[in-house]
Amino acid sequence: MTRITGVRVIRTRADGSWLIVKVLTDQAGLYGIGSASDYYQREAVAAVIEHNLAPLLVGREASAIEDIWQTVYASGYWRNGSVTNTALAGIDMALWDIKGKEAGMPVYQLLGGACRSAVMAYAHAGGRDDKELEEDVRRYMAEGYQVIRCQYAVYGGGGFLPSETVSTPRGANRPTQVFDDEAYLENVPAMFERMRVGLGFGIKLTHDVHEHLRPQTAVQLAKRLEPYRLFFLEDALAPEQIAWYRLMRQQCTTPQAMGELFVNPQEWLPLVSERLIDYLRVRVSKAGGITPCRKLAAVCEAFGVHTAWQEGGDNDPVNQVAAMHLDLASWSFGIQEENHFRPQELEAFPGHAELSGGYLYLSGAPGLGIDIDEDRAAALVDPEASGRLHFAAEDRRADGSIVRP
Ligand SMILES: [Mg+2]
Repeated sequence: MTRITGVRVIRTRADGSWLIVKVLTDQAGLYGIGSASDYYQREAVAAVIEHNLAPLLVGREASAIEDIWQTVYASGYWRNGSVTNTALAGIDMALWDIKGKEAGMPVYQLLGGACRSAVMAYAHAGGRDDKELEEDVRRYMAEGYQVIRCQYAVYGGGGFLPSETVSTPRGANRPTQVFDDEAYLENVPAMFERMRVGLGFGIKLTHDVHEHLRPQTAVQLAKRLEPYRLFFLEDALAPEQIAWYRLMRQQCTTPQAMGELFVNPQEWLPLVSERLIDYLRVRVSKAGGITPCRKLAAVCEAFGVHTAWQEGGDNDPVNQVAAMHLDLASWSFGIQEENHFRPQELEAFPGHAELSGGYLYLSGAPGLGIDIDEDRAAALVDPEASGRLHFAAEDRRADGSIVRP
């Protein structure tokens, strides 16, 4: 019997936005770590873990992962919120880490063993114009990546117009640039035309719309991109508008990736069971951890949909390896997003994943195979940056109304 004796939250990265959960046990030296990072609401997640979940879990049997997941999931009565799910994921990953360490096996062995030898990753290429973008794509191709995402600089790039060139109404909220659906619809297919002329069709390309478009424009875009044979088109629609995927499917064969904003386990179900998307991109920590995502991967397998767990951006090295254990053990795995870690950030996580030639490799150590060096993690935090609040981009249309990020 291994009992939980404590649950701690460790804040790291320069801005303190990485939350690493440490679940302690009554066995000497045995603990697990998990990811509960939330770039926008980290103090809310930390409060749920420290004030609600730690008292609930201390004294419980650490091996009862399924029971603990189900208990915590409904412990606040209202459920499927991103804050509670993220807190739950941190606990869940740490419990899998403990179970693997007790078994002397990596977590993917507990999930059925590896059905591939490494995790294929895709890179994020960007540029302010086509020349810069093509150079960036070629740089990643030289590193060995086989799938590369193409964007004009920021999300929504290609759709922004200088606000002084656009007629805006009196009293409108006036940013320096406004987002215009039709400009995006014109510029992004033209971008892929130029990439295909320059690069040919041997390299697999993706694009992330980041839900900027009106639903009807998104359907038009997917259709207009069809000749460029994308590996997938990501987040063409906002989660509120997923029913439009039925129309998109009728219009074109552009493969669709969706789900990084999903938190409710039911949100993805119609998209998978009706085969309306091709890649499911839930973030492991936002779904509640390894326990729900291994079930999700199994459902995807039944319907011929692949997983592409969301990474990149604000994710931490622990969430990255949690996704990788699922990738190795799930036949339905498709691809995983690269991350953007700095060398000094990785030094705080001994046993972190290794990226080489467009593939990610686990350390192979028991459990998640990754640890946290708390001294180095504390040293990463910049006191000036750590209190800074983050908010999703506030892009606006010509009339001043906000674009959903
Ligand atoms: Mg995305």
